[in-house]
Amino acid sequence: MFGLIGHSTSFEDARRKARELGYEEYADGDLDMWCAAPPQLVERVTVTSRTGKQIQGAYIDSVFVPEMLRRFKTAKRKVLKAMELAQKSGITITALGGFTSIIFEDMNLLKEERVSAVELDWQRFTTGNTHTAWVICQQVETNAPALGIDLASAKVAVVGASGDIGSAVCRYLQRRGIGELLLVARRPQPLIELQANLGEGRILGLEEALPEADVVVWVASLPQSLQIDTSSLKKPCLMIDGGYPKNLDSKAAAEGVHVLKGGIVEFWQDIGWQMMEVAEMAKPQRQMFACFAEAMLLDFEELYTNFSWGRNNISLEAMDRIGEASLRHGFRALALSDQATPALATA
Ligand code: NDP
Repeated sequence: MFGLIGHSTSFEDARRKARELGYEEYADGDLDMWCAAPPQLVERVTVTSRTGKQIQGAYIDSVFVPEMLRRFKTAKRKVLKAMELAQKSGITITALGGFTSIIFEDMNLLKEERVSAVELDWQRFTTGNTHTAWVICQQVETNAPALGIDLASAKVAVVGASGDIGSAVCRYLQRRGIGELLLVARRPQPLIELQANLGEGRILGLEEALPEADVVVWVASLPQSLQIDTSSLKKPCLMIDGGYPKNLDSKAAAEGVHVLKGGIVEFWQDIGWQMMEVAEMAKPQRQMFACFAEAMLLDFEELYTNFSWGRNNISLEAMDRIGEASLRHGFRALALSDQATPALATA
């Protein structure tokens, strides 16, 4: 059985959802009440691969909302309690979605093996980052040529290059062969190490990298205050919005700038679940985050292991392995042609 741990995109959304589901007490409750609330297993589902194989899964709402990010103890407890519930529910492989994997890594929750009486078995969990990185690379490879961008000579800026997903994307694009990799993040040292590891790539600040880039892969959570001078961007420019939350379209809206929601896959048929409604997918019945799909793929493949775990461990072999499984079971990466945006009309 596979599991997905997620959360609402905002406190307001979470309260609206609670009202729709008839939980009036929660709908009227304040943030303190939500901080104290336990995780909920809200949905069970059966999923059929294109191969015909069927698996069962469950969605666990961690009852975390981004407004709790600064309440460190609460954020940590929410993630661990949701993992405990997944394990106690007998789920064999569970993906940590949205902010939950970031909280897990940033707060070093590997130290917290025991939650109440339960010893967490890390083999049952995955960040889903290997599949996310593979999907983002597919999105670059498919959509850049569709805009007339020749990847063999293109400059690709990876914002968040030193991160888990970003470094994997850099390695994959390097193997594929592109014009030049532009490496962007805030701290210089991890970028210098990545550059040494790759044996190539130019380290630049965001403001310097953007005007040079034909393709920008965003794999960092962006600050609300970020402003992009769209007049300085190349046209066409493909921007893959791989961070969470996905808020790049409002910041980079301009003719010739094509923003694609990154790390999103579409399944070959409707699944008959409610869980992606909260994630604001265009087709919530068959679209989902690639990290969630990784848990399904591991279940389909009977690979009961923490396939994606820790930081900067994603190998090209693992990306190829999960990518091949992704296609075989009926997933495909979201494309610009799936998004009915005015920008596409000018493509
Ligand atoms: P990591 O923490 O491993 O890496 C984050 C990277 O972003 C680091 O290189 C970091 O470096 C950089 N970064 C952070 N803030 C900024 C900033 N303001 N400007 C420039 N660079 C910045 O995270 P992951 O690789 O695990 O995840 C990356 C993003 O992808 C997250 O937003 C995550 O939520 C999202 N994600 C999306 C999924 C999906 O859509 N399917 C699935 C999984 C994750 P430094 O700190 O030095 O700046």
